[in-house]
Formats: sequence, C-alpha cells, structure tokens
Amino acid sequence: MSVYKLVCPHCRGKMRIRTSDGEHIFLRTAYLQCTNEACSWSCRATFEMTHELSPSSTPNPNALLPVAPSAMRRAALPQNDEEQLDMLDHKEHDHA
Ligand SMILES: [Zn+2]
Repeated sequence: MSVYKLVCPHCRGKMRIRTSDGEHIFLRTAYLQCTNEACSWSCRATFEMTHELSPSSTPNPNALLPVAPSAMRRAALPQNDEEQLDMLDHKEHDHA
C-alpha cells in the first residue's frame, strides 16, 4: 500500500497513523502519533479526496468528484511538489 509520510509540525519527526476510520468513500479520519518518543505529539486528521485528476478505467457511478481545474492539475505535477514537502512528505511504499 502506498502512503504519505507525514511530518510532525513540532519536532519534524515522522507521524504514524495509529488508526483510521472511513467516514465516507471520500473521507477518512485518522489518529496520528509522532514517532519521536521525546515529542509524542498526537492529533486527529482527516483525509479528503476532493477532485478527480484523471478518470478511473473502472469507474464507480457513486464516486463522482469534480474534475480538477487545470491550475490544480499543474500543482499535482512532481516538479511543483516543493511546497507540499512540509506537511506531506514524498510518497513512499509502506507495507504496514
Ligand atoms: Zn513530534
């Protein structure tokens, strides 16, 4: 499973997802904890799918999202990722 590495806003340590609940097909609530024991900050977070960047080859008629405007598509390109690295670090593979 591919996940985002989340960075603690206090100590810049890695955040671990303790548990998460699906609230809706597009919305998930997660409980995060900093893995730095000296910090141990934890928080509640939500992940929401907001816009479609490219269509599914096996679409579900109940999963309709607004199509992303072109400015948003450009922001999703890898070369414009610098800003996002702050909170959502680069994508990596995790088998957890
Ligand atoms: Zn921390």
